[in-house]
Amino acid sequence: MAGYYKKRILVTGGCGFLGSHLCERLLDRGCDVLCVDNFFTGSRDNVLHLKDHPYFELMRHDINLPLYAEVDEIYNLACPASPVHYQSDPVQTTKTCVIGVIHMLGLAKRTGAKIFQASTSEVYGDPRIHPQPETYWGNVNPVGSRACYDEGKRCAETLVFDYHRQNRLRIKVARIFNTFGPGMHPDDGRVVSNFIVQALKNQPITIYGHGAQTRSFCYVDDMIDAFILFMNSPDEFIGPVNMGSPAEVSILELAETIIRLTRSRSEIVFRPLPADDPEQRQPDIRLARTHLGWSPKISLEDGLRQTIAYFDTLLTERQTR
Ligand code: NAD
Ligand code: UDP
Ligand code: UDP
Repeated sequence: MAGYYKKRILVTGGCGFLGSHLCERLLDRGCDVLCVDNFFTGSRDNVLHLKDHPYFELMRHDINLPLYAEVDEIYNLACPASPVHYQSDPVQTTKTCVIGVIHMLGLAKRTGAKIFQASTSEVYGDPRIHPQPETYWGNVNPVGSRACYDEGKRCAETLVFDYHRQNRLRIKVARIFNTFGPGMHPDDGRVVSNFIVQALKNQPITIYGHGAQTRSFCYVDDMIDAFILFMNSPDEFIGPVNMGSPAEVSILELAETIIRLTRSRSEIVFRPLPADDPEQRQPDIRLARTHLGWSPKISLEDGLRQTIAYFDTLLTERQTR
């Protein structure tokens, strides 16, 4: 149609949890989406419902190899996010955060595309300041078992900022805090999916440590709103910007809430705390509120209800198959 232009958007890691939600939302907004994934933790199943959409294209590709495509915007989400997965091949994790990011930045430089980098609250490590503002430089063990991810993502931020300074790239760096919702994989290994699956099966709920450590969980729909608002915000606003829920809970409280909402007969069992597991985490989201007018709308309990319903259906389907 003359005069009608569809924005071409590359989503790397588009078959993962956040990526698949993002692809769907961008298609709903009338964009042309190229989804790139190497299926390390994500799968085709996550985007199966999009496969016949005329403006959706799926490409199997590892971003650690160069990629040539003509796009207007890049959301770089490719990277395993669950500690179990990113620690299963730590060298690959760092490569994806460094070499993979260099390729996406090279692509942005050549095409002039704007690039959104999915960074993480893990750049703050085991924080000594609470809640964490973007100005805090963090407390990361550079040789620990989480370092492949924490240091990888820190280096990715450095690269994105240096390409901005050196090559005038248009950049958007988001520090994402714990996010959950429908679409998570039952074997993802992160706490919300583990607890819900265990509760629905009336199996023991595995708390690592004593459960006094805290996290702040954001519902996926709120997070995707933040991504899109940020990408479309003025070029001067480049971040890094925290995105997450300020509602902090202990892991024990989370377990109790999930047991209550699922009316489960599961007992709670305590397992060893993994090395370098952060004790406390809560985002300071004043920057996102001010610049994006964003804050999460969905409460933890409402989000958990949606997620429980999703896993309930998924587990029932698996049983009857
Ligand atoms: P996920 O593991 O579900 O998705 C990651 C996707 O990236 C998967 O589909 C995987 O196959 C793909 N991938 C991994 N390495 C790749 C490579 N080298 N080339 C191409 N594809 C590759 O994780 P998620 O929760 O959807 O996280 C998405 C992004 O958001 C990640 O960058 C993660 O670090 C960041 N993040 C997520 C959270 C969260 O709570 N979900 C929190 C902080 C940061
Ligand atoms: N690159 C890519 N796609 C492109 C352009 C570049 O994958 O469309 C890769 C390229 O192979 C290089 C990296 O991005 O390895 C960084 O590109 P840049 O132009 O910054 O560096 P140079 O090519 O000058 O080393
Ligand atoms: N956790 C737990 N039981 C599980 C999985 C995770 O107690 O079955 C704990 C984990 O030790 C951490 C918190 O829950 O303290 C959040 O873990 P997750 O892997 O979801 O995310 P991250 O540690 O990266 O914030």
